[in-house]
Amino acid sequence: MRPALARIDLDALRHNYRLARQRHGGRALAVVKANAYGHGAVRCAQALADQADGYAVAFLDEALELRAAGITQPILLLEGVFDAAELTAVAEHGLWQVVHHEDQIRMLEAAPLSTPLPVWLKVNSGMNRAGFVGPAVAHAWQRLHASGKVSDITLMTHFARADEPQVIATADQLAEFDAATRDLPGPRSLANSAAVLGWPDAHRDWARPGILLYGADPMPAENNGLRPVMTLESAVIAVREIRPGAPLGYGARFVAEQPTRIGLVAMGYADGYPRTVPDGTPLTVDSQPSRLIGRVSMDMLTVDLTHLPAAGIGSRVELWGKEVPVNRIAAAANTISYELLCNVKRVAFRYEGEGA
Ligand SMILES: *Cc1c(COP(=O)(O)O)cnc(C)c1O
Repeated sequence: MRPALARIDLDALRHNYRLARQRHGGRALAVVKANAYGHGAVRCAQALADQADGYAVAFLDEALELRAAGITQPILLLEGVFDAAELTAVAEHGLWQVVHHEDQIRMLEAAPLSTPLPVWLKVNSGMNRAGFVGPAVAHAWQRLHASGKVSDITLMTHFARADEPQVIATADQLAEFDAATRDLPGPRSLANSAAVLGWPDAHRDWARPGILLYGADPMPAENNGLRPVMTLESAVIAVREIRPGAPLGYGARFVAEQPTRIGLVAMGYADGYPRTVPDGTPLTVDSQPSRLIGRVSMDMLTVDLTHLPAAGIGSRVELWGKEVPVNRIAAAANTISYELLCNVKRVAFRYEGEGA
């Protein structure tokens, strides 16, 4: 069997959820959209089922997958519904929905619902992507309240720059949210992962942690006690020595300057390992630090074994995880951990820990 593998540590996931809830206080929706950031939404939701207050996904189909797997807690649709037919499904499956746009209010007003539904009303406090601004918030709230289709209204907003502790933008968004919702009753939800960890003023009734659940710290200083959940690993499947001056891989990006011992690893960009990382990107071989050399191919990549004479065919190679922080690889690839984690595919998934 091809050794490419994503190990998913469900104990670490549970630890990180507990940590988010402790840091924030109140209740926390575990954000498991995009297949739990690539970790497997059903398995992750099940592993959190005895502690999670609820879950958040992007849209209806993601919620239905969890309901079909027996998840009974509240599930919030972060994008809300796209058409009136989805409202029927939302009612039938007991889902919660974000309302961020006036069309969604119109759909609710017109919907033939037998019981009123809980709604999360989204305030645009400065990200300018979705939600109602300023006085339009109270107006939207009144319409929802008067519609007879809505049971209770949670007020929410989302931060654009909560992962930048030195920047004023988050404080501005907080002030804008508080001003826009001053006279409105109901629970509040502001904090994503970065705000759970770095912005106590944003701690209200509900947190919405995503990336921190998976152990990738969104804040610059990674000292928050998160445990990595995914370890992406494979093994050396062939070894060769090349002479000084010999090229390696596509485009001959790497050329040996000295006799170089190369390990060929069963992992490529079709598995989700980023093609854009440079020579020297860190990884471990049998838990020893080493580096990627040569361009990443679709199915394979190459690593430097020159300083590791004991390593050979079968040696375990960690691309990211407990030994190699995914944030390091994200930085090398000029992206964020979120994108790397979401993109893992084709490899085998192995679930470990209690409830696996
Ligand atoms: C994805 C998402 C989150 C989670 O964000 P993280 O940065 O992963 O914690 C929270 N709230 C909303 C509205 C989201 O779309």
